[in-house]
Amino acid sequence: MDDETIEVETMTVACDGGSGPLGHPNVYLHLDDDTHEAVCPYCSKKFVLKEGAQVAAGH
Ligand SMILES: [Zn+2]
Repeated sequence: MDDETIEVETMTVACDGGSGPLGHPNVYLHLDDDTHEAVCPYCSKKFVLKEGAQVAAGH
């Protein structure tokens, strides 16, 4: 179990697990509107919105 936390600057991220045993088909994840976090269901990587990143509001 190694869970990585990855900072991203957009509310939608793509994850393919990277190289190695955790690799998986490319999937798109949408960060939670409130927590600004998402966890990949395949490899358990955690994506968080980078502090100060612009979140499109009102869309
Ligand atoms: Zn993944």
